[in-house]
Amino acid sequence: MIKKIEHIGIAVKDIHSSLKMFDQLLDSRSYKNEEVPSEGVKTHFYQLGETKIELLEAINENSPIRKFLSKYGQRMHHLALHVDDIHKELGRLKTLGFETIGDVKKGADKKLICFLHPKTTNGVLIELCQEEVE
Ligand code: ZN
Repeated sequence: MIKKIEHIGIAVKDIHSSLKMFDQLLDSRSYKNEEVPSEGVKTHFYQLGETKIELLEAINENSPIRKFLSKYGQRMHHLALHVDDIHKELGRLKTLGFETIGDVKKGADKKLICFLHPKTTNGVLIELCQEEVE
C-alpha cells in the first residue's frame, strides 16, 4: 500500500549554493547527508513536516545525476512514495503495465528502493521506498 509522499528529490549542480538557498527558503537546515556510492550520489535531507526534500549531488563522472543535470539542468528529479511492502507493490504495479528501472536495491536513509520508468508514469520518475527491515 502506498502511504504518503516520502520525499521529493531535487538534482543540484553546486551543493554549497543549493544548501544556502534551501536553508533560506525552508528556514531550516539539512539534518543529514549520506553518500550512496552505488548510485554515484551524495544526498542531503531536509525534514518538512511528514515529508522530506532530498538534494542530490553527483559524486562521480558516471553518476546518473551528472547525466540528468547535463540533459535537463537543475530541477526536480523524482517523487518518492513510501510503501509498506515494496515487493508486493511492485508486483501490483507490474501487473498493471508499469516498468521499473532495475530491481529493488538499498538507497539512502535505510530504505529499500526501486524506480519506476518515467515512460510509464507521465514523465515523472517515481521512487518507491520502504523502511529497511533490520
Ligand atoms: Zn529519493
